Amino acid sequence: MSTDTKMRGGIDLGGTKIEAIIVDERNEVRGSGREPTPTDGGPAGVAAQMAKVLKEAAAAAEVEPASLAGVGVGSPGDVNDEAGTVANAGNLPDWTDAFSLAASLKDALGCPVHLGNDVQVATRAEAELGAGTDFSSLIMVAWGTGIGGGIVLDGRPWLGRGAAGEIGHTVVKDGGAHCRCGRRGCLEAYAGRGSMEDRARREVAKGAQTDLFTIMEQRGRTRLTSSIWAHALERGDHLAHELIDRAVNALGVGIASAVNLLDVEAVIIGGGLGVRFGQPMAERIEAAMKPHLFNDFRPPAVRVAGLGDLGGAMGAALLATG
Ligand SMILES: [Zn+2]
Repeated sequence: MSTDTKMRGGIDLGGTKIEAIIVDERNEVRGSGREPTPTDGGPAGVAAQMAKVLKEAAAAAEVEPASLAGVGVGSPGDVNDEAGTVANAGNLPDWTDAFSLAASLKDALGCPVHLGNDVQVATRAEAELGAGTDFSSLIMVAWGTGIGGGIVLDGRPWLGRGAAGEIGHTVVKDGGAHCRCGRRGCLEAYAGRGSMEDRARREVAKGAQTDLFTIMEQRGRTRLTSSIWAHALERGDHLAHELIDRAVNALGVGIASAVNLLDVEAVIIGGGLGVRFGQPMAERIEAAMKPHLFNDFRPPAVRVAGLGDLGGAMGAALLATG
């Protein structure tokens, strides 16, 4: 076993899976692990699973967790790195009150632990190591169950008062579709994977034909995952195409509006759907933005997240660089 203290750990805490990696000083991945996120057991159960996944990654990298320079965590919810706590992690089991995640992981792993917001760390990873390295200002759009966003201006993250980047809740249609946030007309209400699934279920209840739920059942899933959407599109499923077209249009409106405000050099499309659909869909989003760009003779570059699914964990590991 190596005792190289230049190695760092990164944990991406998601609603469905926990991903951990060990990277060396050049940010090369030396080991990784992945397990489902527990659906019960509360925050303590989730923390125990996170420690287990990190230990798997460390074993693969042949390094003791206690000898790591540190472990970073990208988490949903209200993250307070100073206090070492996470609260209101909506998609995780019974996780409303602040839980001392950093202390719990430090006890289990024996090395320093740093916490960050999941989308913010993924944005930093893309800016420093991924598709954003050529640009000093960019917007990251995390297109998944919801739609998160991150902003980098002049090489620095723009966090506002802590809540900046909520591009999913920018309004693309006044009085429009109901959003899961309780408001109406948000981008996420049209393009979030969760909202698209809600809409697909309503259409099926009204008699629409689609293979989406057949594919879901064949795969033993209970939700429409990114790959189920991709598969339905490949099969030419009419409803899937209709809902994705609607999502792409809404993304074009929302992202172009953000670009009109900030005039960033690049837009990076990540998240489960963004990564799964890849470059062809990024080009469709770019085309959908076009009619809404004020500065249309100088559009921003639109790119797919360069780190793929690993962006969250890579960004988390960057938190441990000190
Ligand atoms: Zn909303």
